[in-house]
Amino acid sequence: MTPANLADAVRPAILDLMDRLNAAGHEAYVVGGSLRDILLRRDAHDWDLTTDARPVRLQELFPDSLYENAFGTVTVRDRDGQAVEVTTFRSDHDYADFRRPHRIEFGDRVEDDLARRDFTVNALAWGGPPGRVRELVDPFGGREDVARRVLRAVGDPAERFDEDALRMLRAVRLAATLGFTIESATLEAIGGRAELAIHLSGERIAAEIDKLLGASRPSVGLRLMAQTGLLAVVAPELAAQAGIPQNKTPGEDLWDHTLRTVDAAAAARRDGVVRLAALLHDLGKPATAADGHFYGHEAVGAELAATLLRRWHLPRETIERVEHLVRFHMFAYDESWSDAAVRRFIGKVGIESLDDLFALREADNIGSGVPAAAGNLAALRQRTAVELASNLVLDRAGLAIDGNDLITALGLAPGPAIGRVLDRLVEKVVVEPQLNERGTLLALARSMAKDR
Ligand code: ATP
Ligand code: MG
Repeated sequence: MTPANLADAVRPAILDLMDRLNAAGHEAYVVGGSLRDILLRRDAHDWDLTTDARPVRLQELFPDSLYENAFGTVTVRDRDGQAVEVTTFRSDHDYADFRRPHRIEFGDRVEDDLARRDFTVNALAWGGPPGRVRELVDPFGGREDVARRVLRAVGDPAERFDEDALRMLRAVRLAATLGFTIESATLEAIGGRAELAIHLSGERIAAEIDKLLGASRPSVGLRLMAQTGLLAVVAPELAAQAGIPQNKTPGEDLWDHTLRTVDAAAAARRDGVVRLAALLHDLGKPATAADGHFYGHEAVGAELAATLLRRWHLPRETIERVEHLVRFHMFAYDESWSDAAVRRFIGKVGIESLDDLFALREADNIGSGVPAAAGNLAALRQRTAVELASNLVLDRAGLAIDGNDLITALGLAPGPAIGRVLDRLVEKVVVEPQLNERGTLLALARSMAKDR
């Protein structure tokens, strides 16, 4: 793609913002990942602009903009109403704790801004000052690296990773999402200082892992993490899977199985929760390995997964969903299951988790070298669908009576005993749906209350 037809690839509303900055006398450039992506002919998302205009000036020019951080980034709405980050040229100084710069300095040259960026392919800019034909600014050979699909640190890789250890995770993540290789000196520098990742916050790690898992083959990035030692720092419980024998694909260990499973979830275009569950589903195996078996690994794994995801500060709902999937991933169906057994299975797993759990099993099957539908999965899916199409009762809310009925009709005292009676009624109705009728339930409840 030549600089001239770059103009066609940039969203018109972004060109409009650049025109407005130029008209106000400022330089304006598209920069970073969006430019890299259009050079790769990929769809660019989150457009970033850089300019010599200072934040205060940007706020004057774009009155409805937001200036929310100390790094000179102003979020502007383009004419399509989309948020665009406009960042003042800056250089970063005095990195603290291998993380963020302590001090930033605004600058007047786009080249200086590009020099603070992580990889050459992210250190390109396209645009210019007012009145000039827009062109590509490429001080570090980023364009050639895009063409060769190589990630190379800007400047000395060791220094750049010492400044901000997140760049190491970004390297493996970008290698996976872009399908790039990491240039050897850059890769070696990661291997030499992976332990610096210990200083990263859980949130920043999680954001990279989330993007990595979004790749079409996450295993590419995960293998790089293992190989460089990053995995042992950010997820030692996963690193422990290497070398654990697994009776699946010959010559492969548990870590290989995990990687195949994650890739299968990605190939099936499953969402982030299923991908995370695929990554973590066998987390309990190293701790439970005994004589070629892993008894109870799903319960141990569910706890370990939740602990890991809490460390990464994931939203509580995500943690609970992943933990749940890991806990229940070992179900074993055969055709002898009664309809009641199918209903109990649905009740235990939860209607809302069924599809994810089946998707996880399909990925796990593929990861084990067997067909996705192995273990009669299609039959179980079909039978759950039949049960779901009937008037299925799986919880207290589906019962034909409620706690108040028990109090008024049976004279039970309000309190936790009421809930216990309702739960026992649910168990009965799951097995025999025809019991879900007011008179029958009250009679059953009466005998239960007597038994106690
Ligand atoms: P994505 O496709 O995920 O958006 P990206 O490279 O655009 O990838 P962003 O987080 O959007 O990632 O960052 C935008 C740009 O800011 C990057 O392309 C890079 O130039 C620069 N950048 C981001 N994080 C860092 C970092 N930790 N160190 C140096 N430069 C960074
Ligand atoms: Mg980006």
